[in-house]
Amino acid sequence: MGGKGCPEQYFREKLEELLHSSHHAVAFTGAGVSQESGIPTFRGKGGLWDRYPPFLYANLPMLALLFLIRPSRVAVFASDVLASLLEAAPNPCHKVLADWERLGILRGVITQNVDDLHEMAGSRNICELHGNVYRVRCVRCGGKEKLSRHLLWETWERLRGVRPGRRELLRVLSSYASRCPYCGGRRRPDVVFFGEGLPAEEWNKALGLASESDILLVVGTSALVYPAAMIPRLARESGARIVEINPEPTSVTPLAELRVPYPAGRFFSLFEPRVS
Ligand code: NAD
Ligand code: ZN
Repeated sequence: MGGKGCPEQYFREKLEELLHSSHHAVAFTGAGVSQESGIPTFRGKGGLWDRYPPFLYANLPMLALLFLIRPSRVAVFASDVLASLLEAAPNPCHKVLADWERLGILRGVITQNVDDLHEMAGSRNICELHGNVYRVRCVRCGGKEKLSRHLLWETWERLRGVRPGRRELLRVLSSYASRCPYCGGRRRPDVVFFGEGLPAEEWNKALGLASESDILLVVGTSALVYPAAMIPRLARESGARIVEINPEPTSVTPLAELRVPYPAGRFFSLFEPRVS
């Protein structure tokens, strides 16, 4: 894709130059990095919010209320979201960021995504600011467990087959998040819903990575969801150079020294090793 002299190559060379002079590059990613893996973003055309209004579906108390009055709608939402997550695989953006970490070019990834694709691609130093759908957390003792993709597939299949009733849905959901093996407490998906606080450990780690970074790659995020959206500003204030990779301008654009106006997967495929 794209011969020498084409605009994509220009941006590739610019980014290589910046990374060459960097000692502590970090990536900050959002839903856009997984769009080419088939997971819809929240905002924008075809985004999840077109179909599922966030005031209902991204807010735990409202979702619980919906569960009581229209359980079938919760089942459709959960099965729709799970389907796109389960079918997704890392794209060149996830893979190249993981390669760069292995090669010492990148220190780590701060992500707002819950889809596990950075880890699947091989990234190891990851701050998951909004949790991970493949993990459950005990509400009593805080114990966490990573669930297998297989279990989530089973949950998805059972959700599709569920009759629109609270009891059936509850049965499927409680098999996904069974009781805590340590203290017997209730468990819930380890993801952050609107109005909930961020996990302190991940947030503090992210602050450390961002404030020490000399380059922050801001990829596929509208940077509208706070406090995560503070990361690019904090990094900039600490002296980092900001590179934005996003087909659309965002609130981060004025901070960016380099703006790459391409979809992340397509752009990062320029850095993948070629098979000759
Ligand atoms: P967002 O939906 O607010 O914004 C997505 C951004 O990605 C937009 O700026 C858009 O222009 C850009 N984009 C779209 N396609 C792209 C592509 N191919 N390459 C690069 N950029 C692209 O997403 P957000 O800023 O991450 O905030 C929404 C919140 O939603 C986050 O907190 C995240 O937890 C959650 N979310 C996560 C997932 C996921 O885990 N994959 C999916 C949807 C939403
Ligand atoms: Zn427990």
